[in-house]
Amino acid sequence: AIVELVEETPFRWRIERQGAMRVPGVVFATRELLPDPSADQSLAQVAAVATLPGIVEAAYAMPDMHWGYGFPIGGVAATDIERGGVVSPGGVGFDISCGVRLLLADLHVDRLRPRLTALMDALDAAIPRGMGQGAVWRLRRTAELEQILAGGARYAVERGHGEPNDLDRCEDRGAVADADPGAVGRRARDRGLEQVGSLGSGNHFLEVEAVAQVYDEPIAQAYGLWPGRICLMIHTGSRGLGHQICTDFVRTMEAAMARYGISVPDRQLACAPVASAEGRAYLAAMAAAANYGRANRQLLGQAARRAFDRATGHGDLILLYDVSHNLAKLETHQVDGQARHLCVHRKGATLALPPGHEDLPPDLRPVGQPVLVPGSMGAGSYVLAGMPGAPAFASACHGAGRRLSRHQAMKTTTAARLRAELEAAGIAVRGASARGLTEETPQAYKDVDAVVDACQLAGLARKVAKLAPVGVVKG
Ligand code: 5GP
Ligand code: MN
Ligand code: MN
Repeated sequence: AIVELVEETPFRWRIERQGAMRVPGVVFATRELLPDPSADQSLAQVAAVATLPGIVEAAYAMPDMHWGYGFPIGGVAATDIERGGVVSPGGVGFDISCGVRLLLADLHVDRLRPRLTALMDALDAAIPRGMGQGAVWRLRRTAELEQILAGGARYAVERGHGEPNDLDRCEDRGAVADADPGAVGRRARDRGLEQVGSLGSGNHFLEVEAVAQVYDEPIAQAYGLWPGRICLMIHTGSRGLGHQICTDFVRTMEAAMARYGISVPDRQLACAPVASAEGRAYLAAMAAAANYGRANRQLLGQAARRAFDRATGHGDLILLYDVSHNLAKLETHQVDGQARHLCVHRKGATLALPPGHEDLPPDLRPVGQPVLVPGSMGAGSYVLAGMPGAPAFASACHGAGRRLSRHQAMKTTTAARLRAELEAAGIAVRGASARGLTEETPQAYKDVDAVVDACQLAGLARKVAKLAPVGVVKG
């Protein structure tokens, strides 16, 4: 289907309401960043999301948008809980609470260089990865899994995996409330038992980076981002456990929709009212998976600290922030001048709290939330900050976004060539199968500079610093 776009500004496009759409679609992007409809149906997906019961304002898409399961990746949609609003597992995605954590070392890149090989080897040895292979934490009892599902990063820290003040820098202080381990199915638990503290495969990574450019001095200073500073970025989620929960609940909701009189244009948009038994069970299981994902990043951050300590003597990395980019959250926002209780889906979109928001820790409150935006293993990454009065329920892009499918990406290069190019650019590479590496070639992603510029010009988040890759451990 060809979707017509109305240009509202050079950074904001509207899909007019038509057919079963309850609200318009709004896409934040420059003309160049808009998806090519011959290869990517994500604009049609925005229009389909706009039909969901209870949706308010608009179905939004971020500049890194691309095709996804049901919802586009880079999609944001909020439904009004008190007016029949639904929750849709496809609006969260399969990797529930996938997200990014950024730690800061007290180390300049020039001083790391002589130790870089040792550091990369130490990280290579310390970080379990690949499909379902081993983990930092071997759970002895299922009771331990329950505590992770209920307590997230908070439980990991209680058990000695990290510093108590790490939690000040975690979204929701490391654990989502209202998690119910009882809502997590048997198969999901089984898959989860063996994977706490593991990176996963493909797009997931652990990357050593250095601050390459500062755009906003005062905010960079508040975040501790000085030129040359070594950072460590971790991108992973809830592994097989989250995936299984999504699979289970898509099925449950498909079967339940008719009972609630809901019809959707695409089965992948299966949903149920937030206030229904199915909706509540999904949110309780989703919260448990989110806690699993947060514990996972906490454990990997701690394993990385030990590797840094062994290789460089600087194991005291400070956590800048940890934030999810696949989650539905119950939030209160002003809609048409009224405070409404909403279920905000962010799928491949990052929460971006503005300055002054009460959910921010006191030291970050004056400047706004760090928004962590990975680019690709060659192109670098960004730290942005939440902006006052930002649209789309305080959300921003979550990456550069895929431009080529995995299959197309495979055809553009070979693993050997890619590895040689990265090494020649001074970027150390560890891990990754030949196939995993080529699927993740920087060419497979959009231009991250253009994506974050569009974010800033659209008023979603402001640029604080750019981070250049130094070494990457790929899943
Ligand atoms: P996703 O959560 O959608 O799988 O990925 C988020 C973003 O991470 C992608 O859109 C891409 O821009 C970025 N990304 C993927 N692989 C890498 C990598 O190896 N290093 C960095 N810095 N970013 C990556
Ligand atoms: Mn993920
Ligand atoms: Mn992700």
